[in-house]
Amino acid sequence: MKLIKFFLLCMLTISFGHNASAQKNDKIKVLIIDGQNNHDNWPRTTPMMKGYLEETGLFVVDVATTPPADASMEGFKPDFSKYKVVLLNYNGKDWPKETNDVFEAFVSGGGGVVSVHAADNAFPEWLAYNKMIGIGGWGNRSEKDGPYVYYDSTGKIVKDNTPGVGGSHGKFHPFKIATRDKNHPITKGMPGVWMHSADELYDRLRGPAEHMTILATAYSAVAQRGTGRDEPMMMTITYGKGRIFHTTLGHADESQQCVGFITYLQRGTEWVATGKVTQKPPKTFPGEEEVVLRKK
Ligand code: ZN
Repeated sequence: MKLIKFFLLCMLTISFGHNASAQKNDKIKVLIIDGQNNHDNWPRTTPMMKGYLEETGLFVVDVATTPPADASMEGFKPDFSKYKVVLLNYNGKDWPKETNDVFEAFVSGGGGVVSVHAADNAFPEWLAYNKMIGIGGWGNRSEKDGPYVYYDSTGKIVKDNTPGVGGSHGKFHPFKIATRDKNHPITKGMPGVWMHSADELYDRLRGPAEHMTILATAYSAVAQRGTGRDEPMMMTITYGKGRIFHTTLGHADESQQCVGFITYLQRGTEWVATGKVTQKPPKTFPGEEEVVLRKK
């Protein structure tokens, strides 16, 4: 009898162990890269985003933190091949060329990328990266890097080669997001207009803008020291076989506590991994007037 009990216990252990690891293996593996950023809240936003992704039950998230800016980057060589998605919460020193090459191969071979807020300031000299993010700002970006891209008042996309700086923003304030492509898996079934919490409204971004779909824009009001244009806020890009979701949103902690920011981060990350979105929008998703922040 004792032997049978022992045997059953072993079987149970093996079976539970197996199920747990199988379940974990079914999840989408995401790597967040952080470590340097002119946004010094990055040590808080990385665990926030990790939590947002993992709460869906779809993702398991690791974090790779680069050395600080005053240290050598030579040893920074994450194994991208272990992941389906790399999420960039990074705006810092260049990676070693070998790492750039491996990252390019990862994305062109079908890897997914999520670029959050100031990640589109990073790597101004790295052409492949700028193709992945579509458009970016700062770091001496100018007409040499590609056109400005925005919507005009008739609802047409403008690619504008006028010389000038790439990247700026007006005052930190809440603003409305307008969906432009309602048939994309990331936006399908989502409200057309919603109120985002206080954030920097990036404007005058410029870049190669190839294979890029603008999902949503926001009106950059002159009264808020903006451009008076409808500026791209969220985009998808393809690079080889890889899919990229680029959100310009997410400056401050409260910007990333917005239920709209969170929902789109979750949906965009699933889409870059699988090409589909299976998540239902939360009942708390913001409407057109009221900011909705995630309660802590
Ligand atoms: Zn910012």
